Amino acid sequence: MGRDEAVVRRMSELLRSGAVMLDMACPLCSAPLFRLKSGEIVCPTHGSVKVVKDDSEAIEIQSRAVLDRLEALAASRVGELTEMLRREDERELLDRLESWLDVLERVRRLKLMASREERK
Ligand SMILES: [Zn+2]
Repeated sequence: MGRDEAVVRRMSELLRSGAVMLDMACPLCSAPLFRLKSGEIVCPTHGSVKVVKDDSEAIEIQSRAVLDRLEALAASRVGELTEMLRREDERELLDRLESWLDVLERVRRLKLMASREERK
């Protein structure tokens, strides 16, 4: 659909700029990766991609993508529940809001831990 079209357009742009399509796939979206003239490796969707050295690194990158998705989901649920609470005051809504806030807090703490780990 629209998203695929954008990826295809980006891929042809890369090829036109002299990038070479590699026999490797992006660990996040499994689109083919390209090597730019500068030597940088990019995914047509995600841009610059770190080529993984081993499985543990691949797992780390994948789990970070999961955390990003979970964070976005939790943030949107918190927004929805907050909106609902403006209209009705229900104990159940507050419980759900609290649960999602817990998720959000934990995701952010995990991401913070991961980024500290990286800087070592
Ligand atoms: Zn990608």
